[in-house]
Amino acid sequence: MSKLVELIQHGGKGKPRIWRIWVEGDRVFTEYGSQGGKMVPTEDVPGSKGKKGTKAYISPEEQAALVMERKVKRQRARGYVGLDEEPVSDIEWDGPLPSSLRFAKPINNAPKGFLEENAEKILWTPKKNGMCHLVTRIGPRIYIQTRDKMHDVGDWFPHLKREFFDVMPSMSIVMAEIVVGRGRTKKDFLAMGSISRSKAERAQLIQRDNGGVNAYIFRVPFWRGVHLEADVSCAGLLEHMAKLPETEHISAAPVFQGNYKEVCKELLKRRYEGFVGYLAKGVYGDESYNFKGREDRPKVAWKLRLSQVQGGRATEDDFVACWNPAGKGMHCSSSCHYPSTGDQSESESLGRCGVCKKKLVPDGTWGTGRYMEKVGSLSLYQYDEEGVSQYIGDVSSGLTAADKTKLADPELYPLCVRVSYKDRDYVTDGGRSNALAHPTFEGVRKDKEWTECVNPDL
Ligand SMILES: [Zn+2]
Repeated sequence: MSKLVELIQHGGKGKPRIWRIWVEGDRVFTEYGSQGGKMVPTEDVPGSKGKKGTKAYISPEEQAALVMERKVKRQRARGYVGLDEEPVSDIEWDGPLPSSLRFAKPINNAPKGFLEENAEKILWTPKKNGMCHLVTRIGPRIYIQTRDKMHDVGDWFPHLKREFFDVMPSMSIVMAEIVVGRGRTKKDFLAMGSISRSKAERAQLIQRDNGGVNAYIFRVPFWRGVHLEADVSCAGLLEHMAKLPETEHISAAPVFQGNYKEVCKELLKRRYEGFVGYLAKGVYGDESYNFKGREDRPKVAWKLRLSQVQGGRATEDDFVACWNPAGKGMHCSSSCHYPSTGDQSESESLGRCGVCKKKLVPDGTWGTGRYMEKVGSLSLYQYDEEGVSQYIGDVSSGLTAADKTKLADPELYPLCVRVSYKDRDYVTDGGRSNALAHPTFEGVRKDKEWTECVNPDL
């Protein structure tokens, strides 16, 4: 048996969470649960990788150790620490922001009629189609970090570093969407993706051709060391943001007031990706940020998407995709909703659904005909607010021949993917299933962690 790693996550709601992991031969064991409560065990046999006798071969034992290493890293990014370590509990202003830090996100789907009915209490900022970053200034240093993985990518955008230095005082944090051009089209979004996936030097070269990416500030959680979101209302925060100086490549999001219909018209006219509506009197307070590696979604901000407004109910969202049709049973039907991670892992280890008792089905399917041994469909999941991953359904339409070949490797998963659909229901709303109507695969999101696919409506 390998050395046991035991980690603890403080600071959530309720008791601290304990998580343990160890390896026996080719098997990876974990246990998790509240401190002092019943622990839920899991067991996984990752298996060997590559062809035996080749350089790329990894034995089942080595692979188990690698999986353990990866899982420990992931838990640490979620704010888990060793039992005798001090947990990160505040921003230290001594370097880049810690990887477990998460600022709150807007709620994805407002309850029906909510945005219309509360229109006069809501302030809106348009959403750009780029990638969200956190920018921190500490004395002479500027850090530009990706929102989910918290990678420091300042070297990708030296011009922005210089300009942020002119705009921000020390001990300040702003959130900015970094965009190519005006960040309005899918083309801009894809161009931004290729810049962020390149190495720093190459990223700078690409930008030389298009004049450099732009940053679009949409939130100012900290200013001169003061946590503004702790007690300033959303209206006050937006007013503060609107007063920020502009530079060649940095601007603040314009603020639109009230009237839902006007906002929708603006969305359609300017083809913005969407708007974020802030409850004018709402205060983030304690829910502004945490160190749990998963953001809160306080009831102060909601997303409004172009697709919601276009008459049709088509919309899109991000999902965890899994594929291993030769593997063991992983999910039941999209009508079975698991109340807790405990029920879920119990079902998994029994191979039967804890809700309806049916045999579980492996993730994804094989293709047929010329796609034999390639991808037929991917299984999609989303996390609910309790952290339980719920099976949503499979997607096959939209996968190109290249996708079906490229994605036919169980080692690639879990992956964050974007999927569009016509409509969806929720079991928690009284619907018969969580399934999507007419799902279409839109692409892999390399800029987003699969652990971020949280849907509070589930
Ligand atoms: Zn079931």
